[in-house]
Amino acid sequence: MTTIPTQDELSTLALETARRCGVDVEAHAGGTDSRSPVNGLPVASLQWRDAAYVDEAVARARDAFLRWRSVPAPARGALVKRFGELLAEHKDDLATLVSIEAGKITSEARGEVQEMVDICDFAVGLSRQLYGRTMPSERPGHRLMETWHPLGVVGVVSAFNFPAAVWSWNTAVALVCGDPVVWKPSEATPLTSLACHAVLAQAIAETDAPEALSQVLLGGPDVGQALVDHPGVALLSATGSTRMGQAVGPRVAGRFGRSLLELGGNNAAVVSGSADLDLAVRGIVFAAAGTAGQRCTTMRRVIAHTSVVDELTDRLASAYDRLPIGNPLTEGTLVGPLVNRRAYESMEAAITTATGDGGKLVVGGGRAHEDLAPEAFYARPAIVRMDEQTDVVARETFAPLLYVLPYDDFRTAIDLNNAVPQGLSSSVFTSDVREAELFCGPEGSDCGIVNVNIGTSGAEIGGAFGGEKETGGGRESGSDAWRAYMRRATNTINYSGELPLAQGVDFSV
Ligand code: NAD
Repeated sequence: MTTIPTQDELSTLALETARRCGVDVEAHAGGTDSRSPVNGLPVASLQWRDAAYVDEAVARARDAFLRWRSVPAPARGALVKRFGELLAEHKDDLATLVSIEAGKITSEARGEVQEMVDICDFAVGLSRQLYGRTMPSERPGHRLMETWHPLGVVGVVSAFNFPAAVWSWNTAVALVCGDPVVWKPSEATPLTSLACHAVLAQAIAETDAPEALSQVLLGGPDVGQALVDHPGVALLSATGSTRMGQAVGPRVAGRFGRSLLELGGNNAAVVSGSADLDLAVRGIVFAAAGTAGQRCTTMRRVIAHTSVVDELTDRLASAYDRLPIGNPLTEGTLVGPLVNRRAYESMEAAITTATGDGGKLVVGGGRAHEDLAPEAFYARPAIVRMDEQTDVVARETFAPLLYVLPYDDFRTAIDLNNAVPQGLSSSVFTSDVREAELFCGPEGSDCGIVNVNIGTSGAEIGGAFGGEKETGGGRESGSDAWRAYMRRATNTINYSGELPLAQGVDFSV
C-alpha cells in the first residue's frame, strides 16, 4: 500500500529542495498556486509575470546577445561545462522537484536530469564543431564557403511532462551557439523551472558570462504568446500540444521568425509474427505505461500480427495487473499520477468512446488510491483491444491508454502506423531483417523516430529529436539540430585580382 504525503510534507520538501538549488523562494513568493499531482494539493504560491514584462526580458536578452556572440564558441562551451557539473551535483534535488511537480517516479525523474547532464556534454563538444562547409568555386582565384553565426534571442515555451530536460536541450545548445534564452515554462512546474534557472545562474556567475543569458518567466499562455509575437525573438522553440503549435506556428511565421515545434505524438509499435515476445512485452510496458503515459513518445498503439496478437495481449494484461501504482517518490512505484483531473477525464472519455466503437477493455481503467488522495488522479493503465483504427485511436490521449490492433499483412501494418495525423515515434518488433529494413526505409514509418526491437520512448540525446506532420517538424538535441540556433552566411572570397562573374556573365563597361 502506497502512502501519499500531506500538503505540508510535500510543500516543505519542495521549497527546501528549491532553496538547495539556489532559488530565493521568498523573493518569488505570493500570487498563483501550483498543485502537485502527487496529492493534488497546492505546493507553492509564486508570482507570475504578465505579458507586458516580456519586452523588458527580451531587451535584456538582446544586450546579453550583443556581448555573447563575440565570445569564441569554445569559451562559451566553458559555461555549459560548468552548468553540466552543477546539474550533476544537484541531480537528486532537481529530480525530487520533477517528481513533485510532474509526478514522475524517482528513476525517471533522475533520468530526466541525467539527460540534462548529457546534453551539456554534447554541447561542450559541439562548441568546437560548429562546422561550415567549403565548396569549390566555379571561378579561378575564388573561395566559396559557409560560416555559422549566433542567431539571436531564443524563446523557449515548454510542457509540463519534461519540465527540465526540454529547456536544457534548447539552452545548452543555444548557449554554445551564442544565443541567450528566455523561458516560459509550463504553469504546472514553476519550482522546477526556477531551480533549473538558479543552477544555470550560478554557472553564469562563476564563469563571468552575461547574467541575462538565462531568464525564466513564470506565467500563463499569454506570456508564451507575447514571446511568440515578439519581433526580438529570433527563434521560438515550443514544446506542447498540437493545439498550442497550431496557435504558435502561424504567428511566428507571420512575422518571419523561426520556429521549432515539438508537438503531440500518437506512437505505435508493429509486432510481427517473428518478434521476440519477451522483448516486445518489456518494451511495450515501459513505453506505454511508463511516465503514466505522459510522454510525447508514449506508445499509444500496438499493431500486432494475427498470429501473436492474442498471446501478446494476454501477456501485456498480466504485466499491467502487476504494475505498482502510487506515490512516485517511493521506491518501487512504477506508475505515478496523472497531471490533473482533466487528464484523467480525457482518458476515461477515450475508453468510453473506444468501447462504443466496438473495442474491448482488456485491463485497467478507473482510479487508484482515490481514498488516500481524493484530489489526485492515479489512473490504472488500460489496454483496449480494437478491430479497427477509429477516430479515437487516431487522437493523442495523454494518459496510459494503449490500443491493440491486429494485422495480417506487414504493409497494412505500416499503413496503419502512418494513418494518424501525428508523426513522432514508431517501432517494429521483428526478427525478420526484411521487415525491419522496410519499416526503416522510404516506404516504411513516416515518423521522425523509427526504432527496431525497442519501444517508442526513451530517446538518447545524441540523435536529432522530433517528428513529422502534426508533431510539428522540429528537431532538437543532438546530430545537426544546432543549426536551428544559428544563422548561415555564404561567403565568396575573391583573391584573384580579376572580377570574373558567375555563370560566365559579361558586364564589361
Ligand atoms: P500545452 O500545449 O497545454 O502547454 C505547453 C506550453 O505551451 C505551456 O507552457 C503553455 O503555457 C504554453 N501555451 C499554451 N498555449 C499557448 C499559446 N497560444 N501561445 C504560447 N504558449 C502557449 O501542453 P502540456 O499539456 O503542458 O504538455 C503535453 C503535450 O505536449 C502533449 O501533447 C505532448 O505530446 C506534448 N509534448 C511534445 C513533446 C515533443 O518533443 N514533441 C515533448 C513533450 C510534450
